[in-house]
Amino acid sequence: MRFVALALAAVLVLAACAAGPPSTTGTAAATPSSTAPTATPTPGPARPLEGRTVVLDPGHQLGNRRFPREIGRPVPAGGFTKPCNTTGTATDGGYPEATFTWQVSQRVAARLRGLGARVVLTRDRNSARAWGPCVDVRGRAGNRTGADLKLSIHADGSYAAGARGFHVVRPPRRAPWTADIAGPSRRLALDVRTALRRAGFVPATYTAGGDGLDVRRDLATLNLSDVPTVLVELGNMRSPREARVMTTRAGRGRYADALVVAVVSNLR
Ligand SMILES: [Zn+2]
Repeated sequence: MRFVALALAAVLVLAACAAGPPSTTGTAAATPSSTAPTATPTPGPARPLEGRTVVLDPGHQLGNRRFPREIGRPVPAGGFTKPCNTTGTATDGGYPEATFTWQVSQRVAARLRGLGARVVLTRDRNSARAWGPCVDVRGRAGNRTGADLKLSIHADGSYAAGARGFHVVRPPRRAPWTADIAGPSRRLALDVRTALRRAGFVPATYTAGGDGLDVRRDLATLNLSDVPTVLVELGNMRSPREARVMTTRAGRGRYADALVVAVVSNLR
């Protein structure tokens, strides 16, 4: 296991190099070329996700609160209906969950692409003038693209005293909705938990079990997926201690790196 961890660390270092400054070297780094020896070539072993497709689902949308009618519309959720979407939470300082999930997802996407993956995001912007997509669209996002897995990225907003830490939510074995993906989704949940722990994050102190894992049957995002999927609450935005991590670029990089390690570990 130690070897695997070291190998993944090496892969991440290479991925960080491959991602490079976004505006100038991203394309060159993603397409190794013998005519561009300065473009940080990434040979086979450094691209372990070649041929893989990963769907990232950054929770909520920055403008959701301005569209209550649209996000309140009932949509299919897996044998029942739920509102299209919710506003998400925020830190006490007002940093929104939608922006946090967007920024973390962007970093995860860049690093996964550097490792050779095709990455599909469920929303293409973080805008106060936009809403959605609805949870049914997010739930099905991996199905048409033939994705290997779908990762839904959120943060929680618990006001419980001292509440902090991450938890990973997976679907139960529930026919006809998630019986087919329950097993691989459980393995994905364990990989995400392991990676977050190794990155120094702690399992949630305020959820049942205290092991950083949860199973929910009420989430369209999980119920409508035909590919292995989990929803991760990366931390509690109402915890001042975790808010300090989430609101810094370096802190978000730590979350993103852990999720990349989880994906590589799960798909290798
Ligand atoms: Zn959320």
